[in-house]
Amino acid sequence: MTAAPTAGSRRSTADWQAADSAHFLHPFTDFQALAAQGARIITRADNIYLWDNEGNKLLDAMSGLWCVNVGYGQQALVDAATRQMKELPFYNAFFQTATPPAIELAELLAEVTPPQFQHVFFSGSGSEGNDTVVRMVRRYWDILGEPERQVIISRDNAYHGSTMAGASLGGMSGMHAQGGLPIPGIVHIGQPYWAELGQGMSRDAFGLVAAGWLEAKILDLGADKVAAFIGEPIQGAGGVIIPPATYWPEIQRICDQYGVLLVSDEVICGFGRTGQWWGCETLGYRPDLMTFAKGVTSGYVPLGGVMVGERVAKVLIEQGGEFTHGYTYSGHPVACAVALANIKLIRELKLVEHVRDEVGPYLAAQFESLREHPLLGDAETCGLTGALLLVKDKVGLKPFAPEVDIGMACRAHCFANGLIMRAVGNRMIIAPPLVITRSQIDEMMTLIRRCLDLTLADASRQGWMA
Ligand SMILES: *Cc1c(COP(=O)(O)O)cnc(C)c1O
Repeated sequence: MTAAPTAGSRRSTADWQAADSAHFLHPFTDFQALAAQGARIITRADNIYLWDNEGNKLLDAMSGLWCVNVGYGQQALVDAATRQMKELPFYNAFFQTATPPAIELAELLAEVTPPQFQHVFFSGSGSEGNDTVVRMVRRYWDILGEPERQVIISRDNAYHGSTMAGASLGGMSGMHAQGGLPIPGIVHIGQPYWAELGQGMSRDAFGLVAAGWLEAKILDLGADKVAAFIGEPIQGAGGVIIPPATYWPEIQRICDQYGVLLVSDEVICGFGRTGQWWGCETLGYRPDLMTFAKGVTSGYVPLGGVMVGERVAKVLIEQGGEFTHGYTYSGHPVACAVALANIKLIRELKLVEHVRDEVGPYLAAQFESLREHPLLGDAETCGLTGALLLVKDKVGLKPFAPEVDIGMACRAHCFANGLIMRAVGNRMIIAPPLVITRSQIDEMMTLIRRCLDLTLADASRQGWMA
């Protein structure tokens, strides 16, 4: 029973699926399992909604992959790309050349980032941006005559991308298990995840304990060996782990004390997600470097980069000579033109204020009211991202048996009911487009409640709650 394909679709779903599994190796995918099931074919989108090839409408509570902050169908971004493609589709920034969109974007980024940032290094993605971070922080210490300062400290369950350096900086054991990772000189400490590691302590007390793991690691390695610490303000792909308020200020204090560079991976939190322009502003710290990607273009075209604070920029510029690093697409004019249009639109629509004053607090109140649901051990938000912790027993946050994939059960109900919510283990997470309205949040919450109820019914029927 195949519904009529939506406008713009040229082939049947079964046909797309066959061609897909014959030729397209998807990211983070069990290829054989996907071939057996067939991919969901998404054909069009508008605002916060997607449609698949069967004409089913889905509320996209994940902004694509944390990126479509201004929502789908924004004509200003389409026009910017079209104009730039006609005028100058590509020129590079090697060999002492530059293009107007790249220069203007660099200028605008300096304006919307915290005052210590006056320079940017462009990449094509977040992973590449973090590769640049690794090259740059090591080069910085080299130039200063401390070539021994090589080690970068990151955290378990962090996500910093999927290149050799990105996956090494990340703390995903499944990724480290393939390809001999992490590469040398990258080490990990525990994550500031209170529900898992901090029970029996207040959140604030736990935040200080978790930050203390950084100090212990620096002392263990020797401060003269440590180049930088990197962290996401809120761990996104790891399950929207919102750290206690005490955590980041203490991390800042420790980095300052030992002279360690502080790197904020703002690929998800940047451009308004948390209700400020940058996650570090919401969580209270002052990084030396910031990686960005995703929201910089709202995902309309690929772009990433690193904001380079004056502490590092000054050394690179005044003492460094040639920095032997860069990408063909560093400062790609079309990507930069779209980013410019995107940032201007964020300003015009006052999306950061919309998240901070309007929909962020509204979402927080809605999640608070979900807390009494029998399946939930926790429900937390920060700006327009949030997580629901699914537990077998609220008391002591007892988890389901290891063989029960409660998140996947819930996610299946979401898809079937027209909602895209992501499962990370026992956490259901959302990061909707920043343009979402209150009434659309109501619509999303109705779907979330329905899916939690359906998941609870499964769990009772299957005996998982016992
Ligand atoms: C998505 C992500 C990356 C990687 O970005 P890509 O564009 O996929 O390479 C890096 N860091 C964080 C925090 C991310 O969420």
